[in-house]
Amino acid sequence: MRFSELAEYYEKLEATSKRLELVDILSKLFKEAKAEEIGKICYLIQGRVAPFFEPVEIGMAESMVAQSIGRAFNKSKDEVIKLYRHKGNMGIAAAQLSTNAKRLTTKALSVTEVFEELAKIAKFSGKGTVEQKVSTLAQVLKSLDSTSVKHVVNIPLGTLRLGIGDPTVLDALSIAKTGDKKLRPMLEGAYNKTSDLGYVAENFFRKGEAGIRSVKLIIGKPIRPALAERLPNAEEAVKRLGGEFAAEPKFDGFRVAVHKNGNKIELFSRNLEDMTHAFPDLVEGAVKEVKAKTAILEGEAIAYNPVTEEFLPFQETTKRRRKYKIEEMAKQLPLVLFAFDLLYLNGKDITEKPYWQRRKLLESIIHSDNKVVRLAQERTLHTAQEITKFFNEEISEGLEGLMLKKLNSPYVAGGRGFHWIKFKRSQAGELTDSVDCVLLGVYSGRGKRTEFGVGGLLVGIYDAKRDEFVTISRVGTGLTDEEFRKVKVISDKLQVAKKPARVNSKIEPSFWVEPKVVLEIYADEITRSPIHTAGWDSSTGSGFALRFPRLVKFREADKRPEDATTVSEIMKMYKDQFKKKH
Ligand code: ATP
Repeated sequence: MRFSELAEYYEKLEATSKRLELVDILSKLFKEAKAEEIGKICYLIQGRVAPFFEPVEIGMAESMVAQSIGRAFNKSKDEVIKLYRHKGNMGIAAAQLSTNAKRLTTKALSVTEVFEELAKIAKFSGKGTVEQKVSTLAQVLKSLDSTSVKHVVNIPLGTLRLGIGDPTVLDALSIAKTGDKKLRPMLEGAYNKTSDLGYVAENFFRKGEAGIRSVKLIIGKPIRPALAERLPNAEEAVKRLGGEFAAEPKFDGFRVAVHKNGNKIELFSRNLEDMTHAFPDLVEGAVKEVKAKTAILEGEAIAYNPVTEEFLPFQETTKRRRKYKIEEMAKQLPLVLFAFDLLYLNGKDITEKPYWQRRKLLESIIHSDNKVVRLAQERTLHTAQEITKFFNEEISEGLEGLMLKKLNSPYVAGGRGFHWIKFKRSQAGELTDSVDCVLLGVYSGRGKRTEFGVGGLLVGIYDAKRDEFVTISRVGTGLTDEEFRKVKVISDKLQVAKKPARVNSKIEPSFWVEPKVVLEIYADEITRSPIHTAGWDSSTGSGFALRFPRLVKFREADKRPEDATTVSEIMKMYKDQFKKKH
């Protein structure tokens, strides 16, 4: 496929404000793609040249890109920047310069050629990098038509905002080959194991359904995490879990998946970011202490004081997530990883094995005298009284609560299920859990808040069935001045001109933002509301809303927007709050 054809699709995708149209346009695009291109196209439509979890960044700031544009179309960098300021968008400025430049021909570069050049730019390092990047991009731009120029420019800048979610891509892949969505669940299963859309798409296009089925866990590709359900009380949990079940402390740190291949360790966060460089102490611990040639295990990392044997609160642990002074922080606040599951061992995907067998295997590779990678403590329980007792013990130790696990359940990647049930400490009268919302829009400030530029937020949750973000609340109180300022910084970066295609709303904030940042919000109650679209029920003309919402914390570091609370979770929490009160 020529890149100019892909660029025409970019135009169409950019113009739509409806999710179903995105699926339709994408499926047409995919239909035209060859097997050897489909993976690359999946990355390119998300503005990348690698799956999102690979830290491959093209790494060109505005001024470098402007230099390339100038070089391609015989203008100075300043002239490019001036036009960019006037147009408000670098792609549009570049396209105009490209049209004006008198070129005899443009080479019809293919998608693969453009992809490879961009990937090459990402790999330059060391001396002379800037010049190499600038000249390679200039060469690409010179060889493209102006529509292609408009979109390519946004890729190194990270400003290609087509708003296409992974589930939308999965739907479109199925439709492209079968005419409907029937292969979506199977494609999703393969995606949950590897998190790599391009890889799944290529297997599918090369070998059909057998290609999807052949996708297995791969060391180095993060697995979409299994997540827990909530229940209103211990009695209900016993009913769900059967006569015997496992219980573990719920550590309040952050989830880390450890991929071990001999002495090579890779670490991934809950939102599947590569964190290997951030936690040298965990890397060293995993090399020394995990007794397996190859393994993928999961655990919760928590800052821990080995002398007093105290767990440190989340606010301390989270200091380890910064990107600078890594070694120094590793000494000051060493992490312990409490391993709680094993998914892959010595060359075999063991996710299908029941939990109790995986736990036995985990125990066989993690010794009780380990210092860094330790086993999460586990008890086998039978009754609601035992749950309550264990829960109170853990809370008094400063932990977050309990995780209950079904003994005979496989590891279910990429979703919530009753194989894991979480019980968190919460105050009487409040919901059993906080709600993870996505920032969708901002209301400009009035009165005192004009100073911050932000007066309130419009937040939503994720409708996983529709791959859409739906509104659930306006949040105006409970933010400190500093938090208002932080929202301002975030929204300046993410502001978009019109409502993004995957946002479904009945109300208009002062301006929309790209759905990207997750905020953890506490509320007193979930109520029915005619103005919000979360869980919209047309028979009653109402959705769900949060009563007295207040911000707990920003979760931009460990949750992607699609990891926000979903509509089906809110429906359950809505029902559970009645059970709790009566
Ligand atoms: P939360 O906001 O409660 O952290 P979450 O959406 O990240 O929730 P949940 O499914 O609600 O995920 O809870 C599972 C999380 O709890 C895991 O992602 C993990 O980080 C953490 N956790 C702590 N201790 C355990 C444990 N023993 N077993 C499994 N997960 C644990």
